[in-house]
Amino acid sequence: MPLRGRLAPTPTGLLHVGHAQTFALATERAAGAGLVMRIEDLDRERCRPEFTAAALDDLRWLGLAWTEGPDVGGPHAPYEQSHRSAWFLDVWRRLEAAGIIYPSPHSRRDVEEAAAAPHGAPLESATASPEPIFPVALRPTTQDRASSPGGVAWRFRVPDGRVIEFHDGRLGRVTRTAGVDFGDFVVWRRDDLAAYELAVVADDHAMEIAEVVRGEDLLTSTARQLLLYEALGWPPPRWFHTPLVVDAEGRRLAKRTGGLAIRDLRARGLSPADVLHWPNM
Ligand code: GLU
Repeated sequence: MPLRGRLAPTPTGLLHVGHAQTFALATERAAGAGLVMRIEDLDRERCRPEFTAAALDDLRWLGLAWTEGPDVGGPHAPYEQSHRSAWFLDVWRRLEAAGIIYPSPHSRRDVEEAAAAPHGAPLESATASPEPIFPVALRPTTQDRASSPGGVAWRFRVPDGRVIEFHDGRLGRVTRTAGVDFGDFVVWRRDDLAAYELAVVADDHAMEIAEVVRGEDLLTSTARQLLLYEALGWPPPRWFHTPLVVDAEGRRLAKRTGGLAIRDLRARGLSPADVLHWPNM
């Protein structure tokens, strides 16, 4: 059964073959149920309008068609996250009122140093974690109510040791353990922007997304986002994580693999079908 879905590119660069394949699958799974194009351009320093234009153009060239978005309109406009800060602030307020987030003045460097220290170390991680787990020792013990985020980062206090379990449409049962696989995560940045985890949950809920289709590099984010859905009292969507694209030798493509931008493959004369089946053209 098709489920209402979304395509959510971040315009910090050109889309590559991995995006093409994930977005094609997302489009296919949503066929007939509605598909939102949402531009995740919160990071004003890194995002550029020319990358948004290139993404829309490349995806249209691939033959993908969305039913709502910046270039077609629809009931959930605006579709650029940079224009949705009032909504994100509203969600920040709900989380603050629930007492589940706290202001955290610690820089990434503080976190890395504390995580490396022999004393007060965070819970040991069995799985290699791509980012250091925020040490519990850096959590504040008391906290005043706040009416605005006020120029400091805010983190979500995760339930240490709790196993978050979810069903993925491709992988089946997936589990992540709070405090082990990931720690207290940022929901609001110190430069006064909503962080990815907050913005994506706020918008997937507001835009009534029934199934989130995205790359499996975001599986741990799904566990974080489930905690946000729970704290906000919202029903979560279904999840479908796509395999990361590998080359003919089975090597994973890094985000910025040269020459594999959809743009470059187009310029080399590949057809949309070639790009969607790469490397097995
Ligand atoms: N904008 C995110 C990215 O390009 C996608 C996030 C998501 O699909 O939840 O990585």
